[in-house]
Amino acid sequence: MTQVFQAFIDGQGTDSVSGETLSITNPATGQVVAQAAKCGQPDLEKAVAAAEKAGPAWAATPVGERSKVLLKAASLIMANQQELAELETMEHGSPIRKTMNFDVPLCAEQLEYFAGVARAMTGETLPVGPWCLSTTVREPLGIVGLITPWNFPALMVVWKLGAALVTGNTCIVKPPSIAPLTTLKLAEILTEAGAPAGTVNVVTGPGEKIGEAMVRHPKIAKIGFTGDTATGKRIMQVASDHVKPVGLELGGKNAFIVLDDADVDAAVQGAVFGAFFNSGQVCAAASRFYIHDSIYDDFAAKFVEAAKALRFGDPMDMATVIGPVAYAAHRDKIEAYIADAKQSGATLLLGGERPQTEETKDGYFVPPTIFGDCDQNARFMREEIFGPVVGLCRFSDTDEAIGLANDTPFGLSASLWTRDTAKGIALAGQIKAGTVWINEHLIIFCDTPWGGCKESGWGKDLSKMVLEEYTLTKHIYVDLTGQPEKPWYGILK
Ligand code: NAD
Repeated sequence: MTQVFQAFIDGQGTDSVSGETLSITNPATGQVVAQAAKCGQPDLEKAVAAAEKAGPAWAATPVGERSKVLLKAASLIMANQQELAELETMEHGSPIRKTMNFDVPLCAEQLEYFAGVARAMTGETLPVGPWCLSTTVREPLGIVGLITPWNFPALMVVWKLGAALVTGNTCIVKPPSIAPLTTLKLAEILTEAGAPAGTVNVVTGPGEKIGEAMVRHPKIAKIGFTGDTATGKRIMQVASDHVKPVGLELGGKNAFIVLDDADVDAAVQGAVFGAFFNSGQVCAAASRFYIHDSIYDDFAAKFVEAAKALRFGDPMDMATVIGPVAYAAHRDKIEAYIADAKQSGATLLLGGERPQTEETKDGYFVPPTIFGDCDQNARFMREEIFGPVVGLCRFSDTDEAIGLANDTPFGLSASLWTRDTAKGIALAGQIKAGTVWINEHLIIFCDTPWGGCKESGWGKDLSKMVLEEYTLTKHIYVDLTGQPEKPWYGILK
């Protein structure tokens, strides 16, 4: 019998009303390792009722008190580091070395950040005239729906939940159906830390049903969504029925541009991290590489050597740096892109075949795969692969490289590698993306805004900007004249 994980509604674990469950598979072994409640509309109604009941008291709780809940949760996350890391590795396949040392500590750090930054949130007094006080205040939106993807199951929910809770909203979270377990554990931890019943609810289940029902629900004031661009487009359509605001953190096809004056060894290190961290299942993963002709061969040879050294295999082994990808159909989709790349005439430089070792034969493994001399218009160079597969192109002129980088429907991130920082900054201004790194790729901090443009979405997660995403700015005008007649009344007289 596998363990059954209940949904989390009104401060406690609860079975789905239908009694149905979803199977959770360990992608390293292909074995079903747990069941999770398969929620439907009746479960959502229970969550909405709980969130509605909890709303007024939570909104009226001073921000300093709400912050303390997040700080306590941050320390409980670290006290439960091992359990959270093992859960995430089991449901997602991300190596334990990463979940222990990166995902879980960063979840704690992000809650600490939101706890602090919310206390510095201010309104404004606007100098419209001496006859009035004109001021803005920030109010919670009410019930917010947070829909999250599977690529960083814990981090992606903490980004949204921390910001939404500390600003006084009550939350209904729809975690990814293939990996909902860490989110359920985090809801328990927040409750233990003092989040009142009903402020954090988690409904597990398929996105097209329970996720879409959240978007339709008239009592949910806003949707914070991270996921695929196609899903984001669907959510925008459905949300339009209620003119419901949506924050959209969507896909990417991120350029990695190496200029002729770059430090090639540093760029190679950055390329390995940017392309293969989390098996490339990162919205901002380096995917399209534009390398100056004069250094292309040197870069390609060193990149292949460095990527060859990455140890992939059992994600529960601390020595493993690349685990499986998250589920079987995703592995199949990545392999279809590899087949497309081979057919397009690109040169296979590394990987490209399903590994068959004893450790990997039952799981969903894709090795680091590098193609050279790629066609910018090939399907695998235009669509998001979301796996450890990259393509290299040559360029001879910087303007050409910027044009190639911008030739995409996405606008999430890009990196530029050059020894000339001033040139890098000038070129960053020409790239249409939410983030441009110079001599780095992928690094994200709590303090810095995250979010794309074009089909990568809109709105921001992280940084103090996220506070605007989860609050209503209300203008309050107070007449100070004490006079019944105002000059502008004359227009009607
Ligand atoms: P997905 O769109 O398939 O699923 C995301 C979430 O939406 C899941 O919880 C899913 O169950 C739910 N969902 C699915 N259909 C829905 C619908 N019709 N209505 C409401 N909810 C629905 O995405 P995924 O495969 O889980 O995640 C990978 C994608 O996420 C990639 O495209 C990646 O680039 C993107 N992503 C973006 C960022 C960013 O910050 N821009 C960060 C991480 C991941």
